[in-house]
Amino acid sequence: MSQEQQAVARARKAFETGRSKCLEHRIRQLKNLQRLFIERQSVISDAVKKDLNKSEVGTQLYETLGLEGEISLAIKKLKEWAAPRPVEKNLMTISDTVYIKPEPLGVVLIIGAWNYPWAVTIQPLIGAIAAGNAAVVKPSEVCVHTSKVMEDLLPLYIDKELYPVVTGGVSETQELLRQRFDHIFYTGNSMVGKLIMEAAAKHLTPVTLELGGKSPCYIDKDCDISIACRRIAWGKYTNCGQTCIAPDYILCEPSVQDRVIEEVKKSIKEFYTDNPKTCPDYGRIINQRHFKRIMNMLEDSAIAAGGDNDESDCYIAPTVLRDVKPEAKVMQEEIFGPLLPILPVNGLGEAIQFINKGEKPLALYVFSSDNKVIKRMTDETSSGGLLANDCLVHYSVSSLPFGGVGNSGMGCYHGKFTFDQLSHLRGCLIKQLKMEGVNSMRYPPHTLKKLGWARFFILNNVDVGWIGRMTLLAVLAVVAAVVLQYLL
Ligand code: NAD
Repeated sequence: MSQEQQAVARARKAFETGRSKCLEHRIRQLKNLQRLFIERQSVISDAVKKDLNKSEVGTQLYETLGLEGEISLAIKKLKEWAAPRPVEKNLMTISDTVYIKPEPLGVVLIIGAWNYPWAVTIQPLIGAIAAGNAAVVKPSEVCVHTSKVMEDLLPLYIDKELYPVVTGGVSETQELLRQRFDHIFYTGNSMVGKLIMEAAAKHLTPVTLELGGKSPCYIDKDCDISIACRRIAWGKYTNCGQTCIAPDYILCEPSVQDRVIEEVKKSIKEFYTDNPKTCPDYGRIINQRHFKRIMNMLEDSAIAAGGDNDESDCYIAPTVLRDVKPEAKVMQEEIFGPLLPILPVNGLGEAIQFINKGEKPLALYVFSSDNKVIKRMTDETSSGGLLANDCLVHYSVSSLPFGGVGNSGMGCYHGKFTFDQLSHLRGCLIKQLKMEGVNSMRYPPHTLKKLGWARFFILNNVDVGWIGRMTLLAVLAVVAAVVLQYLL
């Protein structure tokens, strides 16, 4: 048996003991995970620093703080999330107990990406634990140091049988994918996303695919361009542009392009000094392969700012490209690096047309002081998420579903959405073996009279919740008596 097979078999066996279903067990595990982030912050930050040159504060701000928030929320809300959820009933089911019961799915496979290695790997794990599943955690091999730290630390804090960590690259992941899971939660690029879905199909395993793509950013000429560019520069150059929801490119009218360039340059200087290479808050490209990929995109576009680079250090300066053509190399795939192309367009209509020609993005940004512009952009496009007058921050709102649509992914998570995504929402109806007379309308022989009563009973929805049930039962008994008289 391979190492991957063993991990999955152990997780399945642990799941079958039933201990992951117990609410106290789930809360205990979540609290242990919380403790990991409190006690091991420096080990975590050191590894992320080695992988991506993030500062310790940066790692807390963009990775672990959000996780701590999600864990606290899950601990606080777990009883409520896991409780049966009463639903509306029709007259036919009025005396029954009808509810949704969230149930664990079983063994979940979590495949993480490298750009925010803790956030994208542990956030689904929080939901998997909260929902009562076992989970096999596969961090990205691309973030070498973090993946090792995750492998070492997680078993010290949480149930290592239920939540094993499997490290390795493509072949290990492929071996994992040959095993049977009850859900696969994948974060990464769309091409591999298709392979994941193909492997999942063999076992009819449902998938969540958190993918990427080119997230557009429209700047209306009637807005505070200085503030807009500051927020865009932050969204773009954080983590050296290696953020799935980073604004990929700017669309704006030619008349404001120079202003936009100047304002983005000002913000780069404000955030990262005159020499971003020595600034502790400016990251690095993850590896030389990605460095070369990004540098290659610069070839056929005009650089308006930045462009300095150092391959030996995987450094690419915050860069702005002007008058970029849709056919340019930088517009052919997600950039995932610190290049910000500006494409001039003639107004909002053309921007919308351009966006709609491409794949549905993960995020869409619009900057305007005119609500009509924001509304048109919202109504006439589609994307995983939409944000007006800011970048990235929708990610931090646990009450918003986070996920893609079309080529940017399927399924969503964060807060209760993760819990629901990794639960089976089982529809339950508990009837008593009484009041058989009411059922006569559905038994043969079928008559028009019975159909008439069935229409009356089925088409009348009542929201009785759990209160008032007794009163309605009494009413129902009377109705049933009348119906019986007619039917029999
Ligand atoms: P990556 O190279 O780390 O790959 C992701 C995972 O897939 C890894 O664990 C890796 O082992 C596995 N993998 C790679 N090739 C495989 C193969 N052939 N078969 C099976 N498994 C394989 O990460 P990446 O794809 O470079 O990540 C960047 C992409 O992820 C970007 O497109 C980005 O937008 C997207 N992303 C999306 C989100 C989101 O929340 N939607 C978050 C982060 C990143």
